Amino acid sequence: MKLGLCFDDVLLEPKYSDIKSRKEINIGNSLSDSLHLDCPIISAPMDTVTEGDMSVAIRKAGGLGIVHRYNTIEEQCKIIRDVSVVYNHEVGAAIGTQGDYLERAKELVHHGAKVICLDVAHGHHALVENALLNLRQQLPSSVHIMAGNVATEKAFYDLSDWGADSIRVGIGGGSICSTRIQTGHGVPTLQSVIDCVRAAKDMNVKLIADGGIKNSGDMVKALAAGADFVMAGSLLAGTAESPGDVINTPQGRYKAYRGMASKEAQRAWKGKVSSREGISTHIPYKGSVKDILGDLSVGIRSGFSYSGARNLKELHQVSTMIQQTGAGSKESATHILSRN
Ligand code: IMP
Repeated sequence: MKLGLCFDDVLLEPKYSDIKSRKEINIGNSLSDSLHLDCPIISAPMDTVTEGDMSVAIRKAGGLGIVHRYNTIEEQCKIIRDVSVVYNHEVGAAIGTQGDYLERAKELVHHGAKVICLDVAHGHHALVENALLNLRQQLPSSVHIMAGNVATEKAFYDLSDWGADSIRVGIGGGSICSTRIQTGHGVPTLQSVIDCVRAAKDMNVKLIADGGIKNSGDMVKALAAGADFVMAGSLLAGTAESPGDVINTPQGRYKAYRGMASKEAQRAWKGKVSSREGISTHIPYKGSVKDILGDLSVGIRSGFSYSGARNLKELHQVSTMIQQTGAGSKESATHILSRN
């Protein structure tokens, strides 16, 4: 049986480095010919992560926001218009595979979306094939189409063949995800990245590692394994720029963070609950996402430096991973507090 490695199972081996300052390091990458990201972080299309404020803040920090689709076409288009016309920032927008998705996609592009993200839980699916073929035919070729999520090389090849320009890789690893508990299916996100890299290079399609990224160290591991970008949900939720109110309690300030397949999210956007594959929770309020993105970028730069890599291409070439034991994984965390 094949082994599936997750972020905590591995470490990157430090390499000789002649980098004297983190300023020498470029952590950016191009999503398309016309869209370069100075920071490889993309915010998840979830209703407690990405609307207008998050999209503006993350773009200012060099990343990209993908506005969620759990709203009317008019509501989503207004957010896209505000970000792209009023603030003049590039922004992406999510759509589904059924119902009004084609009309939604065209309207979103009309209002300024540069990236259309076909956003479904199980991307290796006939409905995604059909939707991608239709979108490719009906949208201007300048529109970048992101699709997913997938977990295997075969799925990555298929979505590339169906017309995706970038693919979100990771099934069941999200911090609020219960897909693996509910269905028994999934692959650790890092393993999926490792498995899909060859297809990504072969098809010249960008790979976005998505789900279960807990810190900048996980981001560096995903990038070193071959990802072009990382997508973050929980890391960016609970901030001033994520949608939703701050909840004041005697224990502190909180904001909601929920999976889009949670009972609460499904009830809110479609009025009923079908398969429940996520949870809803409250996380401590973190303040401005600008500081969080700043810290994550510094961590990624340091990571490149430990591998002696000045850019993503060099990181892909030089980095090597080792598998660590359970004891190693404990040692890798700050462990003084758990000492006995
Ligand atoms: P996080 O960064 O670990 O919090 O994971 C965020 C990712 O979880 C998103 O980008 C989606 O791919 C995924 N996701 C969002 N909602 C759900 C859900 O309800 N169930 C399973 N996965 C989800």
